[in-house]
Amino acid sequence: MKRGVPVSPGVAVAPAYCLDTILSRREPTIIDAAAVSVELRRLEQACAAVVQELEHIVHRVVKDVGPRDAAIFRAQQLLLHDPAVMAKLQTAITQRRFDAPSAIRVTLSEYEHLFERIRDDYLRERLSDIRDVFGRLLAQLSHTHRELDSQLEEPVILIAPELLPSQAAAFQKLRVAGIITETGGAMGHAAILARSLGIPAVSGLRGILQEARTGDLVALDGREGCVYLRPGHEVEAAYRKLAREYGNLQEQLITNRDDEAVSADGIRLELLANVNGVDDARAAVRAGASGVGLYRTEYLFLTHPSVPSEEEQLAVYRSVIEAAPNRQVTIRTLDLGGDKQVPYLGQAGEANPFMGWRSIRLSWEHPEFFQTQLRAILRARRFGLVQLLFPMISTVEELRRVKRLVERTRLALKREGLLPPGDVPLGAMIEVPAAALCLDAVLDEVDFVSIGSNDLIQYLMAADRDNPKVAHLCEPFNPALFRLLAHVLKTCQERGKPVTLCGEMAARPRCFLPLFGLGLRRFSMSPAFIPSIKELARHTRSDEAREVAEHVLGMTSMGQIRGYLTRKLKQICPSVAPLDVRG
Ligand code: PEP
Ligand code: MG
Repeated sequence: MKRGVPVSPGVAVAPAYCLDTILSRREPTIIDAAAVSVELRRLEQACAAVVQELEHIVHRVVKDVGPRDAAIFRAQQLLLHDPAVMAKLQTAITQRRFDAPSAIRVTLSEYEHLFERIRDDYLRERLSDIRDVFGRLLAQLSHTHRELDSQLEEPVILIAPELLPSQAAAFQKLRVAGIITETGGAMGHAAILARSLGIPAVSGLRGILQEARTGDLVALDGREGCVYLRPGHEVEAAYRKLAREYGNLQEQLITNRDDEAVSADGIRLELLANVNGVDDARAAVRAGASGVGLYRTEYLFLTHPSVPSEEEQLAVYRSVIEAAPNRQVTIRTLDLGGDKQVPYLGQAGEANPFMGWRSIRLSWEHPEFFQTQLRAILRARRFGLVQLLFPMISTVEELRRVKRLVERTRLALKREGLLPPGDVPLGAMIEVPAAALCLDAVLDEVDFVSIGSNDLIQYLMAADRDNPKVAHLCEPFNPALFRLLAHVLKTCQERGKPVTLCGEMAARPRCFLPLFGLGLRRFSMSPAFIPSIKELARHTRSDEAREVAEHVLGMTSMGQIRGYLTRKLKQICPSVAPLDVRG
């Protein structure tokens, strides 16, 4: 048995599917004759996509820097039209029978060998272009992987070195029973996606790809972080039973979808959904959510080869709003950077991407797309109740600047006759400790706030949310976090401003008790978790929750808080206790 970081609850038993990614340097994959044409087509599609990707970069560089600097990317485009390069890649597939990613890696290492002997600096520079272009091809192929994968007949447990959010978004259409990764923490975006898809997942199992082979049977428990490779009959039978029990419990809970979200003493709660697109918005209705508390728009951008146009965005926002419960959607502006990278915005090579050019900081420097997004969101008000939420706010200056931009956009839309009637309230994510501490000033500028506890914990604890080595520091049972949250919730209550918590802790049954006790009434989470939090709310009295919160605020260690909340949850609502992940 192996133990990793429990990332997404649930139990699965299924054959492994080892995912080859850009970063893995395994033996080349040899294919059957029948697969040659498929691989040639993948290569061709990847080349076309990279040519297009480079075209966007050329346009941007010409505009921002000048035509001379764009020449590098033009040269890279030419490489993909070079018959000698293309012939080498194609022969690696047709004659040496490599799959497309292996053909690229092998061809690259042959070029590297060849260039080692060249003394001319200019020519040697060409090698970095080849590396860059081949890297882009591999990145594209990790997207197109899904086309092959979608032919998978049986559900599988994916095993990968890591999961990029862009790849994880592609899994929505696949039959994936579970996910295991060598790196990545419980709060990373791929982990969040696994949870929102209801797929059990475990991360931090370094070296598992060395042992696992596609087709091996795997048993996985995402609550405990346990994984068995090639389990014996007994373990297999036990895990199949656990999987059935877990499934039954969830089915039983979802029957509460039409019940009111009220506490045992009648206090109303808003249970909202976090969504990435229209499928999640539909799932939110099925789960009994009362609206969408967080629409992460970046997945639209992550799965798009270039910045989506205003009309394209409007169409997607419209479909999400129309599918959402009560047509209520809080749309968050683009939150790229950190572990969410797209090739066309030119983010690359930062030493600390989570501390750097991320989110609203990146949006400023791309006014062309930021304004386009604001236009599309303001126009989408026509289709339902829309709120606009800005991520990663650290100063009031940022808020003032963003409000000026919204105002300008509104006026422009009005002049064009495109501004629908009705308000669009503005909100700030509270996910940087500076904003939490200066909340009074933030509240002067906005209509509501939403606590992003995933980032708030990572910045409060100086612990990368995606690094399994520090996953224990990112757990929410943290005295410093509860003290900060108490301050935020109290300030919002005093000022009468609505506050939602939309980080992953909103879906953790053990966290519900102190959060409700501190006065939180709006919880936003992946739709899959709404039934269990509703069930728990219906068993909890507010005086009991207040007492829990007071106890927690008096505690000084994570172990103490975790142990206490585990016991309390078992007392108050034992039926939902098995749904929480360990930790
Ligand atoms: C958060 O940080 O808690 C949050 C909800 O935003 P994201 O996870 O998308 O960064
Ligand atoms: Mg965040």
